[in-house]
Parts: sequence; structure tokens; C-alpha cells
Amino acid sequence: MRKSFKKVLSLLLALLLAASVLLSLTGCSAQAEYRDYTFFEMDTYIVLRLARSAGAFGYLSDEYLDSVANECDRIIASCESYLSCHNDSQLSAINTEIAMMLNTDEKLLSAIATADRLSDITDGAFDYTLGALSTLWNVSGGGPVPGEDMIAEALLHTGRDKFEIDGSTVRKADKLAMIDLGGIGKGMATQTVLEYLSETDIEYAIVSLGGNIGVYGNKPEYGSYKIGVRDPDESTEVIGYWFISNGFVSVSGDYERFFEEGGKRYHHILDPKTGCPADSGIRSVAVHSSNGAAADALSTALFVMGYEKAMELYDSDVIDFEAIFVTVDGSVVTTPGVGDDFLFTSDNFTFTEK
Ligand code: AMP
Ligand code: MG
Repeated sequence: MRKSFKKVLSLLLALLLAASVLLSLTGCSAQAEYRDYTFFEMDTYIVLRLARSAGAFGYLSDEYLDSVANECDRIIASCESYLSCHNDSQLSAINTEIAMMLNTDEKLLSAIATADRLSDITDGAFDYTLGALSTLWNVSGGGPVPGEDMIAEALLHTGRDKFEIDGSTVRKADKLAMIDLGGIGKGMATQTVLEYLSETDIEYAIVSLGGNIGVYGNKPEYGSYKIGVRDPDESTEVIGYWFISNGFVSVSGDYERFFEEGGKRYHHILDPKTGCPADSGIRSVAVHSSNGAAADALSTALFVMGYEKAMELYDSDVIDFEAIFVTVDGSVVTTPGVGDDFLFTSDNFTFTEK
């Protein structure tokens, strides 16, 4: 790192505060314990903290840590190349040009298969085939609110029955249907980074990738990271801290991407049933899972489902996760397994024990 220590620290703080989940960076010893990196990939800032310690072998060299960080950056860029619709990706061709893709990239096929399983598990609340709808809403581009007839039309081009996968061939039954992996891609990339770290000499690390956090290895002493869960109304405030020692945390919130029209907020998480921004009584939901793709897809899906349906999924034991919900009526509610791992600190919301 060529920039001065102070500059780097303030940049990191700024980036972390901008993220949906905030890592706690208090204490000077953290700088000695870790070597920190920031990159910009997948349209988001990525913060990577690699522990310098090599256990009984002393410390890893800066050169080694830098090489691992560079590889993490390369891995994330490579994930973006097949998960996003940018440039000349196969996904972009599937969405815009062709009715049939032969020899589809294995990684893209595997990502679609994972997305499909999570759609099944969430009974379609997570729907990676709603590209026609997300393109129509153009939330990142500032809207405008589409007409009802246009939403109805886009809904006709949404649904898993519009795509058929046969070996390495992706066939479209409806040429206007589009795949959108935006609700799962960053979690997949976070998972891929942690898989790579397990092949290195890194003992423990944490990566934050636009609202998706991956916790790797065995951190000594208390063993957990203090992850701030953002206040939906205040970008620099938290509603509390979630102590996480392994796995993945993803957050979906109505404050992440939205535009306003006629005094109303239109956010980016769409209900595949209505074709409109989900209106299920949730402001944000943070999900902890042992799998990065699952954490990401579930955060999107639970937001769409709302608290009651989300708890039905939790109780069904179909998939293991824990979650913290912030609701429109100002409550913060957690799944039972969160327990004392969450420290509620907000004056703006009420903690409700269920
Ligand atoms: P996230 O921030 O992880 O909740 O993902 C939101 C992104 O996923 C949006 O910007 C869309 O690209 C896409 N998306 C929106 N609604 C859904 C949904 N119900 N299922 C799957 N992906 C969605
Ligand atoms: Mg998601």
C-alpha cells in the first residue's frame, strides 16, 4: 500500500460505512493484525482483510499477502465476467440475442443451477428469470415507474418455464425472457473467494463485497467479527452488531438502490408475483448461512416473502439460516438461533423478541 496509513484507514471507513453491513474497525491493533485491500469490481467496493499471522510459523510476508489479494481481485473479476450481463458475456447473449446457447460456460450453467435450487426452496420468491421486469423498472437508472400494461407484459416474459437447460445448451421458450443473477451473484463471488482462501496459507480473513460478507478461517481470541447491521434510514448508523465467526452474511434493503417518484420510493427488490417492488413490510433483512449463494438469494427472497412466510421457511428446516429483519413498523426481529449473537443498539427502532 503506497498511500499513507491515515488515508487508507479513512478510505476503508468510508467504504465500509457505504456498505449495507459494516465491519467494525475499532482499535489500532487491527491494522497490525491484518493487511487491508480495497478493489472495485461487480459495480461495488470490495474490502478484503487478510490476517498476517501464520500461526506457529510467524507472519506471512507482505508480498505473499499482496499476491493472495491480487488473486482474490482476479477471481471476483472472473465471476463478474460470467455472472453479469456486461460486455460480451454469454449471459448477455442469452438475454438479448439468441434463442439457444450451445456450449454454455460450465460456471454459468452451475450458477443457473444454484439459482434454480434457491428459487425452488423459496417457492419462487427468489426468481432469477425476472430480467424482463428488472430491465423495465431500471431502478439503478432512476426509473420511471412503468405503466401497469408494461408490467403485465414483462410478467408474461418472467418465469423459470421460459428457460430449458439440456446438457450445456440453454434454450429459451420465450425470446423476450431474461436471466438476472443480480440477487445472487455477489454472494457466489464471495463464496468463490473463500474457497480460494482455503487453498492458501491465510489463517483467517474477512471479505465484504457490496452487502455480502464472507468470514474465513479461525480467528483467535473471541473468534468472531462484529458486523454492523445498517439502519435503513441512516447510512452511517447501525441498528446493532451481529457477531459472526464463520460463513456468509448478506443484506437486502430498500435503501440500497431505489428512485423516488411522486413522493414514493421504488426499490430494486421485485416481487415476482406482482411485478412491482416488494411490499411485504420489510425494510431490510440480513441473512447468515454457511453458503454464500444461499445467503445472498435468501436475503432477496425473505425480503419478498415478508416476516411470516420467512419464518415458515425457517421452521420448515428445508434450508439452514439465521436472519435479522427490520420491518416498516420500526421493529427489529431475529430468528431464534441468532440469540445473543446480536447486540441491539438502536434508538430509532424497537427490538421485538419473538
Ligand atoms: P439483492 O440486493 O441481493 O437483494 O439483489 C437485488 C437484485 O436482484 C436486483 O437489483 C435485481 O437485479 C435482482 N432481483 C430483484 N428482485 C429479485 C427477486 N425477487 N428474485 C431474484 N432476483 C431479484
Ligand atoms: Mg441477494
